[in-house]
Amino acid sequence: MFEDLIKVIKEKQKFVITTHINPDGDGLGSEIAFFHLLKNLGKEVSLINQDPPLVTYSFLDKKGNFCVYNRELHHQIFKSADVLLAIDLSSPDRLGAVEEELKNKHIYSVCFDHHPPDKKFADIHVVNENASSIGEMIYDLAKEMGLNVTKDIALGIYVSILTDTGSFKYTNTNSKTHVIAAELLKFGIEPYSIYKNIYENNSYQKILLMGKMLNTLQLDESNKLAWAVVTQKALQETEFDYNSEDKEGFIDILRSLNGIEVVLLFSEKEKDFIKVSLRSKGNIDVNQIAMKFGGGGHPFAAGVTLNNTKLEPTVQKILLETSNSIKAFTDSRKE
Ligand code: 5GP
Ligand code: MN
Repeated sequence: MFEDLIKVIKEKQKFVITTHINPDGDGLGSEIAFFHLLKNLGKEVSLINQDPPLVTYSFLDKKGNFCVYNRELHHQIFKSADVLLAIDLSSPDRLGAVEEELKNKHIYSVCFDHHPPDKKFADIHVVNENASSIGEMIYDLAKEMGLNVTKDIALGIYVSILTDTGSFKYTNTNSKTHVIAAELLKFGIEPYSIYKNIYENNSYQKILLMGKMLNTLQLDESNKLAWAVVTQKALQETEFDYNSEDKEGFIDILRSLNGIEVVLLFSEKEKDFIKVSLRSKGNIDVNQIAMKFGGGGHPFAAGVTLNNTKLEPTVQKILLETSNSIKAFTDSRKE
């Protein structure tokens, strides 16, 4: 599956790596792993994203290799690069401002991804829907190319796998995921130290905000759909900086409810700017629901971002669509 990409890696010299807006552990961990992998091959590599990494993941990049895209500063880098490597995204609009560089077509582009195929936007697409994470794909690529994995590479891959499998909990976890993790530990990375950095690093403000979010928790009458909101008011009252920390923990608490099929978290990031996270316990394809609202993702973990939209009507619309999907599933079981 990596044939075309390996040819590109061997032949080209200058690479820019990028990932989606609001990058998560998978995006950032894999970028760092790819960065070191290519550097070790003597390539010139830049890491340029629309958004800065969350403070949660600063331990990944002590040398400050991540750049926040600024057209004036970076356009020339994109123009003179040979390859744009876009990772962990199913559609180009997830690149934010960086999409412009991709559209300019002055650079050969590679999409390296594990989402269900959506639309083709790069010159080559290297996609493995069955991979737990991008990190797993990078590990496979390194193996196929016979490349040495170093501690930096192992750390990036491990963070990617750890975060996208919800610490080896979700349905994308299998024996291969564990075998790779076991292999990575041989390079001297320390699971507890990584765990502490990501999961035991919450600010006081974040825990306060979680409390406020939990106060909004609701269940529908079937007890199969749960949802909660993070309002602008709650963000202001707790003084939580939305762009500083990983927020996966919020929806993790919700999905721990017994008996539910789907959980939704509506976050009013800014006034009239709403981020919706959808999680399924394995029976409902929430990617299909997200796509109806212009979002996307994986079958059991998806998201929608809505601009110029009010919180309450958005909640009602998405709840209705999700209830219908749950009902269709429950009815199909009865037949
Ligand atoms: P989260 O809820 O953690 O932000 O996102 C879960 C998954 O949904 C991500 O891994 C990503 O694949 C997808 N996703 C999140 N937000 C969006 C969005 O606004 N648009 C699209 N197309 N996918 C999203
Ligand atoms: Mn991912």
